[in-house]
Amino acid sequence: MSFRVSYFHHKDVGNFHFGLQHPMKPHRLALTNNLVLSYGLHKKMTVYCPPKATDDELMEFHEVDYIKFLKKVTPENSEEFAIDFPRFNINADCPIFEGLYDFCQIYAGASIAAAHHLASDGADICINWSGGLHHAKRYEASGFCFVNDIVLAIQHLLRFYPRVLYIDIDIHHGDGVQEAFFATDRVMTVSFHKYDGSFFPGTGNTSEIGCGLGKFFSLNVPLKDGIDDNSYVTLFKDVMLDVRDHYQPSVVVLQCGADSLGKDRLGGFNISIKAHGECVRFIKSWQVPLLVLGGGGYRIPNVARCWTYETGILLDTELQSELPQKTHYYNFFGPDFSLHPPLEVHELLRFLDGAPSVQMQELPGNLQSIFNGIDEEFRDVGFRGRKPLMWNENEYFDGDSDNDKW
Ligand SMILES: [Zn+2]
Repeated sequence: MSFRVSYFHHKDVGNFHFGLQHPMKPHRLALTNNLVLSYGLHKKMTVYCPPKATDDELMEFHEVDYIKFLKKVTPENSEEFAIDFPRFNINADCPIFEGLYDFCQIYAGASIAAAHHLASDGADICINWSGGLHHAKRYEASGFCFVNDIVLAIQHLLRFYPRVLYIDIDIHHGDGVQEAFFATDRVMTVSFHKYDGSFFPGTGNTSEIGCGLGKFFSLNVPLKDGIDDNSYVTLFKDVMLDVRDHYQPSVVVLQCGADSLGKDRLGGFNISIKAHGECVRFIKSWQVPLLVLGGGGYRIPNVARCWTYETGILLDTELQSELPQKTHYYNFFGPDFSLHPPLEVHELLRFLDGAPSVQMQELPGNLQSIFNGIDEEFRDVGFRGRKPLMWNENEYFDGDSDNDKW
């Protein structure tokens, strides 16, 4: 069966810049929207330009002082406000940039409008790819997120639905949402993320289960780097089936952070766009009202590919893998110009024309010393643990195909 799908996109949302070196690039939203349009998907859903969230709407979760600060501070007057930076967690990860408050109002407004639309039965599925900023806290910014549109949307849904299920497939723990609803059983949060004790934001262990009435209504699935399609999708479906049977959600909010994809600049999973999309397809198959949001995602062309593919899934529309040439940003998607670029390992294997035929040689006497040497070499190139700070690491140049600049 097909669903009534509504899509929320504000035309200005792609025009904000966190800063040249910053990995969060709102331009990815312009790329995504353009690709969605190039595939003609807008003809199969209702497209809305949502209103900006008002100050009062943002204050339904955030502290008045914090919102007032965000509204007033600009790059020009930032010195005057510098004294407040530590308490609101303003730093290189969460910098003051031109139009910061507008940006917050736009992406949060879209999630609130989408929640409202879903609750008033305007659609079965609502999409806001600019939302999903799951780290923001009541009183402070965190991990590139200034206001928490997810919490605001869920607060709205709680007026209409008895039980909200929040699912988070971003590579980072959905800490801001978990924290906001830690003590209630009316929202169950389930987060799949990388966890090693130091990876940002550092939380998301299985021991975090909620408290008071909310005890057992926070669920965390910590994962290691390198997890592949099969393991991820199998685990996801297994866990989510159990959650659905026990919790019986009346509405689902799905955060689709694309930094869990292979080759992301900050992430280290090895998941393909198809596997990421399979999680979305699975949740859609439940036929429960669904709010779909974006999130992280730092390899810009892959973010656009992923969210376009997932828009197709939500619309029951198969998309040809060859990207439509009419998309404005066609050159960003080289060298394959495909919706499903190969993951690293497969890409390397393409260089192998066939099994090489070589002459057998005698093995050197001391193999162990060679292996030790290799270990040493690997240590030198740095297979080091990641630090909690999310940016300025992995900021390497990608080679000729690196077009994710604006
Ligand atoms: Zn993330």
